[in-house]
Amino acid sequence: MTKQLTVVGGGITGLASAYIAALNGYKVRVLEASHSFGGLLNTFPIGGNRLEHYYHHFFTHDVELNWLVNQLGIEDKLIYKKTTMGVYRNGTIYPFNSPVDLLRFSPLSLLDKSRFAATSLFLGKMARWEDYENISCLEWLYRYAGKNTTNSLWKPLLDIKFGPYAGEVPLAWLIGRLRQRMNSRNRGEEKLGYLQGSLNTLLNALLEKLKTHSVELIGNTVIKKLRVAEGKLVGLETTKETYSGGDYLLTIPTSYAKDLVQGVDPALYQQLDKIEYFGAVCVILDLKKPLSRTYWLNVADSGFPFGGIIEHTNFIPSESYNHKHIAYLSRYYSHQEPIAAQSNEEIIDTMLPYLKKIYKTFHPDLINDIHVFRTKTAATVCHLNFSQNVHSYKSSVPHLWFANMVHIYPDERSVNNAIRVSAEACRAMGMETTFIPEGNSLSGKIGR
Ligand SMILES: Cc1cc2nc3c(=O)[nH]c(=O)nc-3n(C[C@H](O)[C@H](O)[C@H](O)COP(=O)(O)OP(=O)(O)OC[C@H]3O[C@@H](n4cnc5c(N)ncnc54)[C@H](O)[C@@H]3O)c2cc1C
Repeated sequence: MTKQLTVVGGGITGLASAYIAALNGYKVRVLEASHSFGGLLNTFPIGGNRLEHYYHHFFTHDVELNWLVNQLGIEDKLIYKKTTMGVYRNGTIYPFNSPVDLLRFSPLSLLDKSRFAATSLFLGKMARWEDYENISCLEWLYRYAGKNTTNSLWKPLLDIKFGPYAGEVPLAWLIGRLRQRMNSRNRGEEKLGYLQGSLNTLLNALLEKLKTHSVELIGNTVIKKLRVAEGKLVGLETTKETYSGGDYLLTIPTSYAKDLVQGVDPALYQQLDKIEYFGAVCVILDLKKPLSRTYWLNVADSGFPFGGIIEHTNFIPSESYNHKHIAYLSRYYSHQEPIAAQSNEEIIDTMLPYLKKIYKTFHPDLINDIHVFRTKTAATVCHLNFSQNVHSYKSSVPHLWFANMVHIYPDERSVNNAIRVSAEACRAMGMETTFIPEGNSLSGKIGR
């Protein structure tokens, strides 16, 4: 008899899982709340092209992503390019691309620099994340990288990513992140990947591929209730109809999934309730002129309303967007911060004067247009010993399975790692997944 899988959530985790299940001969349907599939990978039209709501790039070692890109026959669209990075500290922009740039980074003394290099190398190349799960990242960095190095480089990064939780982030998380970044560098020179035509190229090809495998793609459908009979999950009540049969894989954020299990299994609800998410806002400026020559600028001075400026057209040329220059102002926030309740206009009005502080020649007249995108579930908050909070793919309710961003820990959240998580979840459900090559991702291992 043909096995059946209903996937809830049409982001990359849901779509990749649907593809793997279809390859395993399953009859698959995907239920997505929004009218468009893709979740955080969604794009919008700009300058005769399309652009991600949230900046995205790939790494040279993204093995699982490369597998999917090849499966979809879009490998000629995936390009890798050298990029430029900078740090804004003490009112100055410093290039931060090579060991020479580190040597020239004047906010740090020579001793600070050697401690930065030694600790980064240790964490990125040698440390095992399992040994550092119960150690606060900031405490460790203050101790071994030093106060000045931590305050100049690391703390601003953690503040930006984790807001009030920065002090609680385990060192295991930084090990995962550095490992990913360092494996993308070659003698200090970083090449990043991008799909020509935006992530829409991947989404379109994947959705077409799913259709050729007779996967049912059902949008505009929100799950309202799990239908349980004799302790087993037998159906999903949605805003459209009730879908039933086979297994059910929830790839939606745990903060939404937990409400569905509340009346079904209180113990499971308690477990899922431990997971918190961060929000993110990206203010995208469509500009007449570039702001700088840097692709990625980390803002390491405190008090700024954004943590990074990602000048997309310093990565992908402005010719691809009818000569528009595009920059993202990026900010992650906890839901307790005032920004969570601010309107788009308030956020823009707060951010633009700070942009002028960094780029003196910037003037609002240089803006053609502004687009704002925000999500409540940009990332999970990783506390100390977070692995203990990672719920299993398999739930206590027969036929109910989970796979989402929680399972990416301790690695960095990424499209590649979401595909790895999908593969691991499908394997946990008993599917054949050995045809998916495995890179060096740390994701997907917890919760098996
Ligand atoms: C600002 C930002 C920058 C990023 N940069 C990069 C990068 O440079 N490189 C990289 O590789 N990755 C990057 N990522 C990470 C990457 O986007 C994510 O890891 C990945 O998209 C997560 O996919 P997902 O399917 O797990 O979740 P989502 O994309 O969140 O998908 C979940 C889906 O579930 C749907 N849903 C929710 N509730 C329901 C419901 N009740 N019923 C039905 N459907 C529901 C949602 O609409 C959504 O489509 C970035 C993310 C952000 C936010």
